[in-house]
Amino acid sequence: MTKTVRDYIRSIVDFPHEGIIFRDVTTLFSDPRGFRMAVDQLLAPYAGMRIDKVVGLEARGFILGGAVAHQLSTGFVPVRKKGKLPGAVISEAYTLEYGEAVVEIHDDALQPGERVLIVDDLLATGGTAEAGIKLCTRLGAEVVGCAFVIDLPDLGGRTLLEGLGYEVHALTS
Ligand code: IMP
Repeated sequence: MTKTVRDYIRSIVDFPHEGIIFRDVTTLFSDPRGFRMAVDQLLAPYAGMRIDKVVGLEARGFILGGAVAHQLSTGFVPVRKKGKLPGAVISEAYTLEYGEAVVEIHDDALQPGERVLIVDDLLATGGTAEAGIKLCTRLGAEVVGCAFVIDLPDLGGRTLLEGLGYEVHALTS
């Protein structure tokens, strides 16, 4: 039987904490057919659209986003956790289950009017993606889509992002 993207993803029980089932995409990335399938499916809805930059969310969004950017012949821009980018940045804080996180983008990474595709491995509550979207829009860019390998719909991320008017594309749940 033909394998789907979902077949290449494994679940690790009790990681990083007891009671959490972690979706591990390293097994998708390490398989040549799986990785190509994921990248091709991530970018399929955007073929023929004008995309100027792919923005990848740390860290697995870099692996996927880099491949998607290469395929779409766009530039790639990283959104990183606080303190990792060397140049001048703008920051966005967002709420985690316990506490707060901060993500950053170089303040000259996007130009006003540029059309951006956001890429990450997994959409849960949507907090990370929303912070990434805010960074892009603060620089004047337009977020034309948000593409994920996995959407966990019960955690509300898709509802949040679509409610804010953003298009969400996911390969599996
Ligand atoms: P959110 O901000 O709640 O939507 O969480 C999404 C972020 O957490 C993404 O950057 C994911 O990489 C990461 N994440 C949360 N749960 C998992 C998981 O089970 N596997 C892989 N990444 C996860």
